Amino acid sequence: MINSKETTEVLIVGGGLAGLATAVFLGELGVRSLLVDRHAGASIQGRARGINQRTMELYRAVGLEDDIRAAGRPFAHDWGVARCETLAGEWHWLFADDAPKAWPELSPSEFCQADQSAIEPILIAAGRARGTTYRFGTELVSLTQDDEQATAVLRDLATGTTSTVEAQYVVAADGHRSPIRERLGIQRIGPGVVQHSASIVFRADLAAYVPRRALFWIIANDAVGAGLVTTAEADRWSLNVAYDPAAGQSVEDFTTERAIAAVRAAVGAPGLKVEIEDVAGWQQTIGLADRYRDGRVFLAGDAAHTWPPAGAMGANTGVQDGHNLAWKLAGVLRGWAGAGLLDTYEVERRTVAAELSDLIVNRQLKRVGATIEDDTTDDQLWVLGQRYRSDAVAGAEHTTVFGDTLERSVRPGCRAPHVWIDDRTSTHDLFGRGYVLFAPTNPKPWRDAIHRVQPKLPVEAHRIGVEPAWSSYGPAPRVSLIRPDGYVAWTGTDPDDLAAAVPSLLALDD
Ligand SMILES: Cc1cc2nc3c(=O)[nH]c(=O)nc-3n(C[C@H](O)[C@H](O)[C@H](O)COP(=O)(O)OP(=O)(O)OC[C@H]3O[C@@H](n4cnc5c(N)ncnc54)[C@H](O)[C@@H]3O)c2cc1C
Repeated sequence: MINSKETTEVLIVGGGLAGLATAVFLGELGVRSLLVDRHAGASIQGRARGINQRTMELYRAVGLEDDIRAAGRPFAHDWGVARCETLAGEWHWLFADDAPKAWPELSPSEFCQADQSAIEPILIAAGRARGTTYRFGTELVSLTQDDEQATAVLRDLATGTTSTVEAQYVVAADGHRSPIRERLGIQRIGPGVVQHSASIVFRADLAAYVPRRALFWIIANDAVGAGLVTTAEADRWSLNVAYDPAAGQSVEDFTTERAIAAVRAAVGAPGLKVEIEDVAGWQQTIGLADRYRDGRVFLAGDAAHTWPPAGAMGANTGVQDGHNLAWKLAGVLRGWAGAGLLDTYEVERRTVAAELSDLIVNRQLKRVGATIEDDTTDDQLWVLGQRYRSDAVAGAEHTTVFGDTLERSVRPGCRAPHVWIDDRTSTHDLFGRGYVLFAPTNPKPWRDAIHRVQPKLPVEAHRIGVEPAWSSYGPAPRVSLIRPDGYVAWTGTDPDDLAAAVPSLLALDD
């Protein structure tokens, strides 16, 4: 029985990292959202751990960087990837050195490792403080849309009660199986599921076997093929064991007894005291949705793209999808952008995901021992060098997602350079709330030029410094307009040219 009906500006289906972060970014821009997830609350499996500099910049801009870094403190000394037959045996480091966690000249934010189960509550609290409504233990059972709105039927899994929600837009952050993607008939391109694993969370004292904590260990012997990762608690671990459905195996085979045996085989300690906390199945999947949008519905995160874990790009890309989409939804909902701006979400984010797919698969193959030629392994490019070409950018000169090197200059379609404005404030701390103008002289005429065309557009104007650090925003008299996501929308020297570019940048003619 349907017993209630409510409205929201944006319905977010899926409370993984992509959906939870999208809610925060929308809330920061004053957009009301309702987030539903069938899980009872935040994840207890800590899968995504590596939060890259770009994602940390986005969390920093909404004031969450310190909390997230604090959640990552237990992992401060986990680095490197080792291969071994058992944990008790000899380790062969695939890489042992500390990867560069800070690129101070490029970003105000450092790479961070933090457990997903610790990050999710931080995002939920931040979303709640910004007006997001959360409904856990709630499943989306149907979704329809017309010219006016999307209508979703939700079921409370505890009571069986159904309710209806009317939303202007829907973000489908419902994971790699994405029931919404399936329902909309959006195809996924790629090999699909390439490996099935059981993720076993357990407690054991491994001090005698782990003289040094690593990012993770790849363990292969006759009894088990597995990946072992640390968690935030010293004696709590997560072991991911591959199984083969073609051989009749399933995650249900991992009874407590079998899970304990797998842990002991991986450690190489037959009598080890092991306490199993949780066993969950996951599939390593490779696929890219052939479109990211159907009317009022937008795919984000694993619903749109899935890759192997190598490179730690899955959740990072999902969070960045949500950020790209949030300000565009805010623009359309608040009336300072035309509906066509929403088309640039797919143009920008799907192109990036398509390019990343091959790079990540190659990195994963290399990690398991394959020889890969032409391997682009430049992390700085992956993380900070993603470039866009779309109608939301004027005058992009590049034709590829990644260049050969990371440029530190203001170029349309590229992430704006990081410059310290004072001891604590980066240019990236100014982004997120609206557009930002940087001008070498009084910026007022430039802001006025924009407001002649779109008076509602939130624009913060800054006069840039003359110090060498600001050279990346020069040379004078160049002025740059930066989008809410920190990407360069336009550069030029004439306010009238800027005014002429604005209608197209904001899809105002649609
Ligand atoms: C072992 C491992 C290590 C990884 N390490 C990293 C890493 O270091 N860094 C990184 O960036 N990525 C990493 N990844 C990838 C990362 O975990 C995923 O890309 C990311 O968590 C996906 O987030 P998501 O929000 O898109 O989807 P999910 O986390 O899958 O969330 C989808 C949510 O939708 C909900 N849902 C689905 N259908 C419905 C419905 N009909 N109604 C209500 N709710 C619904 C589900 O309950 C689920 O909570 C790793 C992955 C694995 C497996």
